[in-house]
Amino acid sequence: MDSRRLAYLQAMGVVAWQPRSGAVAESEALPAAPEAAEPVSEAPLCMDWEALRQTACACRGCVLHETRTSVVFGVGSPDAALMLIGEAPGADEDRQGEPFVGAAGRLLNAMLKAIGLSRDEVYIANMLKCRPPGNRDPRPEEVAACGAYLERQVQLVNPKLVVALGRVAAQHLLESDASLGRLRGELHEFGAQRIPFLATYHPAYLLRKPTDKRKSWEDLKRIREVLAR
Ligand code: SF4
Repeated sequence: MDSRRLAYLQAMGVVAWQPRSGAVAESEALPAAPEAAEPVSEAPLCMDWEALRQTACACRGCVLHETRTSVVFGVGSPDAALMLIGEAPGADEDRQGEPFVGAAGRLLNAMLKAIGLSRDEVYIANMLKCRPPGNRDPRPEEVAACGAYLERQVQLVNPKLVVALGRVAAQHLLESDASLGRLRGELHEFGAQRIPFLATYHPAYLLRKPTDKRKSWEDLKRIREVLAR
């Protein structure tokens, strides 16, 4: 099997059968790749919190394992009514191993406080557990590879409301290419459990464009309203 086909199958999460190295001619053997990505199986979907965390922290399911400093698993209350999902760790998160820290994290904490919530009362995670180099957008194969961890986190938290932070998370989670401006206007449903779902701005975006904080406040009021139902 050539290396391109093998890489494609790995990105799709398919474990490809390969003959033992001794059974193939040297010219057909794949180059040694001790750090190669290993597909994430369906196993995370049956795990408890501790097993899920340990598995994610050792994960090599996509190329991002090669450049990460930390696996940023998620933080907060495992019984939270509100689950916040961003796209991927940034530089501060990668260094500290926690999502939404630094200036964006402080703004998120202030946004939560404005609707009467503390960071400890919600659950915060990203679609990707490892930082894309240079903060580039996540690639579809990376989101697919990491999806089982987030899916299981949502199952375990079983929140009353999921909120996507930012365009990239909103579009991936809703499988839509509509603009964030359109997506944040309505109450959606998420996943097989059909959990109520809202989209709003990423705090890092609000730091760059503070004039949109007024629209963000409208979203926060909507979040508070849905949680109060
Ligand atoms: S981003 Fe997700 S799938 Fe990729 S290595 Fe990290 S934990 Fe594994």
